[in-house]
Amino acid sequence: MAAQLIDGKKVAADIRAKLKSEIDELKSKGISPGLAVVLVGENPASKKYVSSKEKTCDEIGIKSFSHKLPESITQKELIDLIDDLNNDENVHGILVQLPLPKYLNEKEIMNRIAPEKDVDGFGPDALGKLVLDEPGFVACTPHGAIKMLDAYNIDPKGKHAVVVGRSVIVGKPLALLLLRKHATVTIAHSRTPDLKETCLGADILCVAVGKAKMITGDMVKEGAAVIDIGINVTPEGKIVGDVDFEPAKERAGYITPVPGGAGPMTIAMLMYNTVLAAKMAAGMKVEV
Ligand code: NDP
Repeated sequence: MAAQLIDGKKVAADIRAKLKSEIDELKSKGISPGLAVVLVGENPASKKYVSSKEKTCDEIGIKSFSHKLPESITQKELIDLIDDLNNDENVHGILVQLPLPKYLNEKEIMNRIAPEKDVDGFGPDALGKLVLDEPGFVACTPHGAIKMLDAYNIDPKGKHAVVVGRSVIVGKPLALLLLRKHATVTIAHSRTPDLKETCLGADILCVAVGKAKMITGDMVKEGAAVIDIGINVTPEGKIVGDVDFEPAKERAGYITPVPGGAGPMTIAMLMYNTVLAAKMAAGMKVEV
């Protein structure tokens, strides 16, 4: 039987609607959440992501402060801008769109973002809190993956979750979140000897590699929940995930489409973190 589709677009729309009413309430108390968006250069994919983020801010009432900078910007100028944004009380969250051009020191720039404004959740403070199970900003894409499981009542407790990919922005935090939800977690990567065998053991299979259709249908356990985070453009210009969707769908119990799965969730969780940052800045009690 074909899998039930996990509709990331719908889950994200529900989250945005809830945030919008929270933001209206915050505004009535004089708190207006603000997100600074920093883009360097002309990378078309980055420009597209930034404009979707700004559009979503507008839709739900978050003020976006746009900083579109030429590739001639120096490391020092960018650090100075981050310092200004750190000190600007109208800015609750700072997003630096990655990747930055190679000549810039990305790590130094990302680490300069004040921990209380690190709404991407990529910095050492946010990641440390995740490891320590303390409240903090959770990286948006893995957080979105967990929210999709929640929305379909897929409880990781006691299940075997396999995360393919171990990046700092997706794979590692996602594995920690699944662990937090009491799954038994395996992290697979490019040196995992028998990926097919590993994936076949997964009740929950999450894939964040960046290789089109690398997870074939015969790597999916019957009835598994499959969360495909990959975004790949085929030579024909089509966007596909890391999972070969059609055959995988015939074996999985649940599956996310690409596009329309993890992508919209990432932006929704960025908005969620920005609202969280605004509440924390106002000294409000927050639930994370
Ligand atoms: P990275 O390139 O940072 O990490 C890729 C991971 O995949 C690495 O851990 C790598 O292993 C592993 N890998 C590579 N080849 C294989 C292989 N043959 N078998 C098993 N593992 C392999 O990518 P990201 O985590 O940043 O992104 C992954 C994908 O998710 C991309 O397609 C990206 O576009 C997408 N993405 C989507 C987002 C969204 O909003 N939906 C947001 C962020 C990312 P090793 O560590 O050993 O090299």
